[in-house]
Amino acid sequence: MTALQLPAVLGESLLCQALQRLIARQRLPHTVVIEGGTEALRTAVAQALAAAVLCPHKPDGAACAACPSCRHCAQGTHPDLVALPGIRESPTGLPVDAVRAAAEQAGSSALLGVGRVFIIPDAERLRGAAANALLKILEEPPPRTVFILAAQAAANLLPTIRSRAAVYRLPDAAPPTGAQIDNDRPAPAALARLLTEPSLAAIAEVLTALEKAVPNSAGQAGQRQVLALWLQQQIACARHELRSADPSLSGRALQHCERLLRALHDLELHLPPRSVLEALCWARSSSD
Ligand SMILES: [Zn+2]
Repeated sequence: MTALQLPAVLGESLLCQALQRLIARQRLPHTVVIEGGTEALRTAVAQALAAAVLCPHKPDGAACAACPSCRHCAQGTHPDLVALPGIRESPTGLPVDAVRAAAEQAGSSALLGVGRVFIIPDAERLRGAAANALLKILEEPPPRTVFILAAQAAANLLPTIRSRAAVYRLPDAAPPTGAQIDNDRPAPAALARLLTEPSLAAIAEVLTALEKAVPNSAGQAGQRQVLALWLQQQIACARHELRSADPSLSGRALQHCERLLRALHDLELHLPPRSVLEALCWARSSSD
């Protein structure tokens, strides 16, 4: 499993560069609001941001995706990362007990050493006692603690919370650019099918296309390079779909993004293309 990385989720955007710069310099504000985009995109950005903050290596301000901290983030088992329930798990509002427990935890030291991160989805629900419990800790945030609030619009947050946060707006939908998609070497349609209708026939079709693009006799390194390019094209498409207004489409895109990133990671570990495709085909995303 691979931790989401900011560039994979946000692309080469100014926002991505700004966030990575802040993280690399350890200057990310204690309270961050991610507004705009779809629920799935906000979730993906919050997770990628948390993984980057907690990663002890953070090359260029993004999660390294390989260390124990990043693996814990990807599996949802990081002891210093707390995600409060979203609107689906808790439709009537943010449970005040969960917010109080988070505020208490924020005061204790990090278990893996780098810091603590709290993700609060649908932060518009912070009202009354839950908001008060959080405000106390936001007024004097403990060192190396980051609160990531996700909201459709920061304007809907209580002014007392908003005034203590740095607000980052997600970029509006834009089609994948030429830089992300190499049209000279389009991925075979079967690669996209692996994500939705896993089958041995689709794997065989991708391997045949790969053999056609770079004959095996030329060495597996070349094939791995082309497959990486194809996977990146699919990631660009999934990233675009993350911005879809339809929640079922954007939720599915987030799962695809996770699976494709894992396949890319497998390729970097020098696994043969067939094994990478089989894992991509049959693997389930962490949110399945
Ligand atoms: Zn890492």
